[in-house]
Amino acid sequence: MTKVYNFSAGPAVLPKTVLEKAQNQLLNYKQSGMSVMEMSHRSAIFEEILEHAKAQVKELMNIPDTHSILFLQGGASMQFHMLALNYAQGKDVAYVDTGNWSQKAMDEASRYGTVHCIASSKDKNYSYIPEFSTDNLEKYAYLHLTTNNTLEGTAFTTLPKVNIPLILDASSNILSYDIDVSQTALIYAGAQKNIGAAGVTMVIIRNDFISDVKDLPPMLSYETMIKNNSLYNTPPTYGIYIAGLVFDWLQELGGVDAMIKLNTIKSNTLYDFIDHSDFYSCPVHGSDRSLTNIPFKSPNETLDAKFVKEATDKGLLNLKGHRLIGGMRASLYNAFPLEGVDALIAFMMQFEGENH
Ligand SMILES: *Cc1c(COP(=O)(O)O)cnc(C)c1O
Repeated sequence: MTKVYNFSAGPAVLPKTVLEKAQNQLLNYKQSGMSVMEMSHRSAIFEEILEHAKAQVKELMNIPDTHSILFLQGGASMQFHMLALNYAQGKDVAYVDTGNWSQKAMDEASRYGTVHCIASSKDKNYSYIPEFSTDNLEKYAYLHLTTNNTLEGTAFTTLPKVNIPLILDASSNILSYDIDVSQTALIYAGAQKNIGAAGVTMVIIRNDFISDVKDLPPMLSYETMIKNNSLYNTPPTYGIYIAGLVFDWLQELGGVDAMIKLNTIKSNTLYDFIDHSDFYSCPVHGSDRSLTNIPFKSPNETLDAKFVKEATDKGLLNLKGHRLIGGMRASLYNAFPLEGVDALIAFMMQFEGENH
């Protein structure tokens, strides 16, 4: 098998050591004679896996005792709906529109409440993070932000201090971004980008952030999920196990701070190269650039398509930009190695030489 680098935006590359550990334990987890996939979610052995994953991420993200950690299903897209069902019904809610995923979140919220878009970067194709005032937010039930915009390649560098519940979609930069969890009411992230395998959605929720809606369907009630420790029904057991292995790997490498350092080096290497080139360009405003998702373009769409094809032939996979954005996109999540960035730049230089 030839060496490949997987630039996918999600499901994305996982640490090789994590996959090897899962392989070693696949048939017989810790002398249990069973695979994790075969275990009852109510068994002591699975409970240990669940509690271990929670303890590891609690430490990694400095999650205070005021907050619960949930592992749910349905992806971040289900959270768009679930949080609106729980907290937006008949209320005014505030959203910052920073791109495709924020818009999807707003669409779901508008089924239940009155959505106020308090800032948007739509005027410039979502190439920057808009500024907004945190005064007079009291009339809103919550403020929703997308911390990293996976398609457009922008990210919040700091989070606003607000006196209403702050809700974050951190799907594409959780564990690559310093979040003060104590300042948040709810954080959600699909696992398939920076946590583990698709099928798990991690939610970090303040225990007193309780919906006042009566008779919520139990599968869509945060309160039910908190009370049952994610075990109201069968949770995505294998995905939780993989997330735990990724959390172990992160701990060994030095945690979120170490990841921010490494991701800064990886992304700066690529941004610097692009910024010094008159062939490639990145549409995103300098200080709002994402550490994890880097969109770029060649001089025209024909060359973009040629680039993606030739890169694929060289083992540089999944560089095609999102269909709504075009061009290319390199996703450099925690598990993506620095050598992969060097390999991409070497190819970019060669391609430019041949097509200038
Ligand atoms: C990928 C992504 C989503 C959608 O995730 P699903 O798990 O596919 O529902 C939502 N928000 C952001 C920021 C994303 O990157």
